[in-house]
Amino acid sequence: MSSKGFVLIVQYPASGHINPTLPVAAELVRRGHRVDFVVPEHYRAIVEPTGARVLPYPSLIPPRWTGVRIPHHPDADQLATAQVGLIRETLTPLPSIVSGLGGERPDVIVYDVLGSAAGRMLSLAWGVPAVVTCPTFVENETFSPYAEAVAAGDIEVPDPAHPAMREAAAIVRSSLDTWRLRDVAVADFLSGADERCHLVFLPREFQPGADTFDERFHFLGPCLRSGADDGGWSPPDSGRPVVLVSLGTLGYEGAEDMLRAAVRATRLAGAHAVVALGEVDPAALGPVGEHVELHRRVPQLAVLRHAAAFLSHAGMNSTMEALATGVPLVHLPQTGEQRMVAERVAELGMGRMETAPDAARLAAALHAVRAPEVAAAVAGMRAAIAAAGGAGAAADLVAARMARTSGGTPRNRR
Ligand code: UDP
Repeated sequence: MSSKGFVLIVQYPASGHINPTLPVAAELVRRGHRVDFVVPEHYRAIVEPTGARVLPYPSLIPPRWTGVRIPHHPDADQLATAQVGLIRETLTPLPSIVSGLGGERPDVIVYDVLGSAAGRMLSLAWGVPAVVTCPTFVENETFSPYAEAVAAGDIEVPDPAHPAMREAAAIVRSSLDTWRLRDVAVADFLSGADERCHLVFLPREFQPGADTFDERFHFLGPCLRSGADDGGWSPPDSGRPVVLVSLGTLGYEGAEDMLRAAVRATRLAGAHAVVALGEVDPAALGPVGEHVELHRRVPQLAVLRHAAAFLSHAGMNSTMEALATGVPLVHLPQTGEQRMVAERVAELGMGRMETAPDAARLAAALHAVRAPEVAAAVAGMRAAIAAAGGAGAAADLVAARMARTSGGTPRNRR
């Protein structure tokens, strides 16, 4: 039976959000569906190899994080201002999508849980079913790991009474009205609590409070990009254990101190360090010695396949990629959400969390994560990830959502 359809994917413009959806897009295209992928132009090169059509929009977020530094503990103004920025950014694709599609309508809209506004708006306004992609921990009506982290003081949230938060709500209200969604309350729009299908890119075993999640949540594990990273890196001849060092794709205050301490720790541990600098100036690290490779960006999966440990900022994608390749973690989290990831990894015995750029402590942690019990815990999670379904199961779920609307009959074809 042929029931090819049209999938519109709307993503938040950050690697951590886009990367896990690329294999899903590729799998849908492989099955013969049309996939249009909404991202800023500078992501075209990583999206196009999936076979999806790129629908670009003029993002408000700079393509590179040069000079932009995320604070470790944002203050009330920074938190609220970031929320307005998020709302503005995630509504920005709307005109580009409308003009890009002409009169056509997708059979399903797949949108990111954070970059949700444009995808959710069109899903409601057009009556098209949605699938929500979730690259990190999820929450439900009865359980929220975020609420627990807020209560514990690990994570900061904006004050709803802050003027910038009222501005954010007004922007959403105005957009809902423009799309003739006057009956939809701003809070309901933003919560997305009515959504029926969430693709969660972690295995159930990693999600805190997993038992509280019903059939609306599908824990699929990470969807790893194959091919693009392969062959891009080979291990050194020295035979030293390889330690990957990366703070991800965004910029943090004090990143130089973190990387400097990380490099010293790898030296103390007798390792070969592969460092992803991001926007950090290599000169800031001083002379690093022969057992350290400095790269602006690394083919992360290719390096992980040879790594003995990953000294990471505890981004969820990085963490999942390490666990999927059987690599233990030393975490140096930079934000509240990353602290949650690091604490979960430590709780499950798959790594250690450090909070300060202290080379001696990081070296001790690199030693500790090579213990057999850590390897066993990591192997257990690796097996859970392998069994979780990944991109194939994600594509099945997206296809099932569109079959329900179109009754198996495609409404739109190129
Ligand atoms: N990444 C990469 N090379 C680098 C740095 C990052 O391929 O040098 C990829 C990494 O494999 C992951 C993503 O970028 O898929 C980063 O996502 P994560 O959630 O770990 O961190 P974020 O950058 O969103 O904080």
